[in-house]
Amino acid sequence: MAPSAWGPERTLGCRFVAEVHDGATLRKALLEIACDFSFTWIAETRLLFDALEPRRFAELHHNPTALLSELTDDDLTRALTPVYLERLERVQGRLVRDRGAETWWSERSGPRDLLVAYFSAEFGLDESLPIYSGGLGVLAGDYLKAASELGLPLVGIGLFYRRGYFRQRLDADDRQVEHYPLTDTSRLPLQLVPMAPVVELADDDGNLVPVRLAVWRVRVGRASLYLIDTHVEGNPDWAVTDTLYGGDRANRLRQELLLGVGGVRVLRRLGLEPTVFHLNEGHSAFLQLERLRELVEEQGLSADEGLERLRSSTVFTTHTPVPAGNEVFDPELVRLSLGGVVERCGLAWEDFVTLGKVETSDSGFGLTPFALRTSEHANAVSELHGAVSREMWHGLWPERRVDEVPITSITNGVHQRTWISAELGKLLGDTDPHFDRAKDLAAGDLWEAHRSAKERLLEFMVTTRGEPLLDPDVLTIGFARRFATYKRAGLLFSDPERFARLLTDPGRPIQVLVAGKAHPADEGGKDVIQQVVEFAREREAAGRVVFLEDYEMTLARRLVQGVDLWLNTPRRPFEASGTSGMKAALNGVLNCSILDGWWAEAYSPACGFAIEGGVADGATEEEQDEADAAALYAVLDGQVLPAYYERDDAGVPQRWIELMRESIAELGPRFGTARMASEYVERLYLPAHEGALRVASRVG
Ligand SMILES: *Cc1c(COP(=O)(O)O)cnc(C)c1O
Repeated sequence: MAPSAWGPERTLGCRFVAEVHDGATLRKALLEIACDFSFTWIAETRLLFDALEPRRFAELHHNPTALLSELTDDDLTRALTPVYLERLERVQGRLVRDRGAETWWSERSGPRDLLVAYFSAEFGLDESLPIYSGGLGVLAGDYLKAASELGLPLVGIGLFYRRGYFRQRLDADDRQVEHYPLTDTSRLPLQLVPMAPVVELADDDGNLVPVRLAVWRVRVGRASLYLIDTHVEGNPDWAVTDTLYGGDRANRLRQELLLGVGGVRVLRRLGLEPTVFHLNEGHSAFLQLERLRELVEEQGLSADEGLERLRSSTVFTTHTPVPAGNEVFDPELVRLSLGGVVERCGLAWEDFVTLGKVETSDSGFGLTPFALRTSEHANAVSELHGAVSREMWHGLWPERRVDEVPITSITNGVHQRTWISAELGKLLGDTDPHFDRAKDLAAGDLWEAHRSAKERLLEFMVTTRGEPLLDPDVLTIGFARRFATYKRAGLLFSDPERFARLLTDPGRPIQVLVAGKAHPADEGGKDVIQQVVEFAREREAAGRVVFLEDYEMTLARRLVQGVDLWLNTPRRPFEASGTSGMKAALNGVLNCSILDGWWAEAYSPACGFAIEGGVADGATEEEQDEADAAALYAVLDGQVLPAYYERDDAGVPQRWIELMRESIAELGPRFGTARMASEYVERLYLPAHEGALRVASRVG
């Protein structure tokens, strides 16, 4: 494998090409920007690349490095107008200021030796690095960006999937088909780290085979992410890091061993000594086994002492109450895959397996119970999800009352600078958005900023998707998320006649943009997509329903900035948090949602709309769906449409804008990653860091 051409320390300082005067120097300057994913949070940076070759840039999934590799110096020379140069200098200036600024952590005198290792199976930093499937990954990506901004001592560990999740297309029957294009690493700003740690993985017959790891470093401003890749010559051909959540159970387990065990070995090779390990979801839980092995085999502790040490320094975040999201493995498969490590840790196999069970009679080995039993600090991702999780995992602490189950909650957040529109960003401040300023914005200015983001979205649909241009005066609803069953994408369509009347009401029409992928194995989810697309084609839909293929971060950004209303209809209480609504809220795109996840704590009638079916606990799913659908139509008809279409003499919807101001000013800061990350630090990382020191001084 060829080493990466990316000079490692190029962007560490604040050096930028001093003078740009032709295509060659412009290329250098743009590569310096593109080699660090901090480009993703400076809105103007995207415009720099978009201006070069917009259509090709979209085809390349907005990958700046790939675009630059296709343009000649002459192409770049032609792009170099005075306006372009001015914009480039503004972006460079902003990057320099960002990198040189004091940070929250540098100003908060915390322990200097704190280092957090943050493990996640997916990271969504940008569309151009397709190693995420949805909310979990985008959250992890946003979190790294916050770590950079706040100056947190945190390093990310993940896997590099050569074929990513998948690209979605619809076939002639409107059925989702999945494409798995191979990612060309030479066209990504990845830096190969010179090391080759080894992890032993079991083949299908249970023979342990050493697998060598390639390790890629990804720069995210001040933070680093290390990605493990098994595409190394000489490795067995069962391609382990091929696709995210791909392959059979055995392969899934191999991926999780690579992430957990491999991740710890990568950290050691880097010479990093994390004092806190943060498991973002249970996928990485086997890192605990590797740490236990180190403590027992290398430091001579007993298994019990080792477990105590582990527990004290681990933070675990659970992300979903959906059963399929909490992985359970056949213990026999786990035993084959681990190949004797458990015994080397001084643990009896039965005792180890019990760590992965809620009740001793359970038949499977669950990663969530295993992670909970080996982490002293655990949290859910919204207040409601906290309560649901304490109930759900009560069996692990049967002697306690439900409200004493040690799972707290820290509500998710989104990285504001990544998600805010350029227009609104400009209104709220030059570098960082000051959300409280929204309260004082003139209605006309706010409306105009929103209109221009909306028009950009509608144009984007024409130029990159070949859709007809929709009417910007019509209330536009966005619904985009994974087509998991509990998300109920079909709820809005459940009464086609009523829905069609809403679409075509001559005085107050609506239009709906739908996007989202179904899991490749989820035929039910694919059915729903097919039904939506077929409805969109029908005469009743009047061209006012559009399904946009291949939902990913660029499309998400356009949608949460450009629609008027963000709809979410999960079956309560299965939406642990939800984050797309937060992205919409900070853009003044109003939420209309079931009171589930984050919205259960964020909603007030002053900043959005609630869908309340009002069924009692214990109602069947059908009863719940029916009641929620009726409530959804009623809130659209009775609250949303009147507020949107009531206009003053200048054609400005004053009442709607008041809601927008409140949404931006109140929800923008509350549901940002800065608030979220500082909560992790104060409530979980620092107690873990200090507790681990105490335990270490007592035990071994
Ligand atoms: C934010 C985001 C999500 C998560 O949205 P939810 O509201 O949690 O469903 C999923 N996919 C993409 C591409 C996103 O940007």
